Amino acid sequence: MIASEYAPLAKTGGLADATAGLSRALCASGHDVRMLLPYYRSVAATAATTLTLRDGTTLAKIMHGDGRPHVYLHDVPGLEGGDSLYTGDARDAHRFIELAMAAAQFAQATGWQPDVYHCHDWHAALVPAALAAAGTHRAPTVLTLHNVGYQGDFPSAALASPRHRAFAEHLASAKHPRVNILMAGSRDANQLTTVSPTYAREILTPEFGMGLEGVLVERRSVLTGILNGVDYEIWDPRHDPHLVHHYSSAGAPEKLEIKKALCRRLGIADGHARPVIGLVSRLASQKGIDILAAAMPQILASTDCAFALLGSGEPALESELSRLAREHVGRVAYVSGHNELIAHEIIAGSDFLVVPSRYEPCGLTQLYALRFGTIPIVRATGGLADTVQHFDARSGRGTGCVFNNADPAAITWAIATALQWFRSPPDWVKLQSNALRADHSWDQRVRDYVAVYERARGPT
Ligand code: ADP
Repeated sequence: MIASEYAPLAKTGGLADATAGLSRALCASGHDVRMLLPYYRSVAATAATTLTLRDGTTLAKIMHGDGRPHVYLHDVPGLEGGDSLYTGDARDAHRFIELAMAAAQFAQATGWQPDVYHCHDWHAALVPAALAAAGTHRAPTVLTLHNVGYQGDFPSAALASPRHRAFAEHLASAKHPRVNILMAGSRDANQLTTVSPTYAREILTPEFGMGLEGVLVERRSVLTGILNGVDYEIWDPRHDPHLVHHYSSAGAPEKLEIKKALCRRLGIADGHARPVIGLVSRLASQKGIDILAAAMPQILASTDCAFALLGSGEPALESELSRLAREHVGRVAYVSGHNELIAHEIIAGSDFLVVPSRYEPCGLTQLYALRFGTIPIVRATGGLADTVQHFDARSGRGTGCVFNNADPAAITWAIATALQWFRSPPDWVKLQSNALRADHSWDQRVRDYVAVYERARGPT
């Protein structure tokens, strides 16, 4: 597997959880997986050995026992990253072209021949082209599109290095002065996957395909939607290592203890008495945070709920959430930055988790919330639509609250609806029990991925 993120070594979002969860589940079912990542400055790990590739770049090998894949970190001399994983400029193009070139030398350098190269997102989308250019060991490729909103779209000048000439020619288009790495990978890979069945359909349209829909429609016969799974060793209220209290059933007093501790930590007043709505999210336009922020004043005025918000990202969204927290002390708490402990406390201790995304390829936080009996309030898009069923109090079926429109009125309606269930003990116990039973373990997904790997290898 070739990727830019792998939890916990290098993580900014769900991609890291997905590559780690899938690769570990594949190992657990007997497959031999090796992980290739860039060597970021921020990675805290000790290499067991270092291999030098033909082109002078190096691979640091990190050994992992316990049925986890060995991880190789690719180091490019002179390529200084900042403290964050991505620079957002031409250095990213450089880093990930070099990563693709390293992938093409991997089998020869390590003496380990993969049956399939599984590439994740634009960061690894040049691997098929690099393998073809190297012309040596040729195994089939699978490219997973975790988020079509990030395409590796660069001005052609970003590929000016003589080392990258073959890629510049491969990516060049008479029509565009820019290169689009994800588009090239979507053409080149033997099989394509994305992270939910609904998103697999959505990205064939201009609204969600974001310019890639033409290529994806052409290749729809090799495109499969497979939901991400959850690593229940980490995300499970029975043994979550981040939590002091553990529980397994609806209405558990331990969940209330976690909620009270969360409210104390965040300064939410009367936390035990009022419904708490959590949010754990990158703050990006995709996530619909601005729509939630616009709805919050009215929700706060018309209900007694409180908000526990955690996220970092776009400065305008950070300052909007800070402003709401200042104006509603005791009812709105906002923690900025990346904080694993508070993420777990919010997901476990809140009554609801809101995910108001404009689009969401899969979404992981709603899956975590379900397992903690924290009721997801989500927009009906992508993986959110595939994993949360709107609760019907009459039949007692459903796992959360689902709204359709990306506007403040729809969120306000959804929260008011969800609060009615919260106030009705029989509905609430039923809803929490349904949520707690949802199973999104990786084991089921492994079978689907192996079927895609077999298709990539072609008829035997
Ligand atoms: P995306 O990959 O688009 O960011 P996902 O829902 O697939 O969205 O995954 C988000 C992951 O990142 C989850 O594991 C979530 O808990 C984590 N996360 C998001 N923001 C933060 C934060 N500020 N602190 C800690 N974890 C976060």
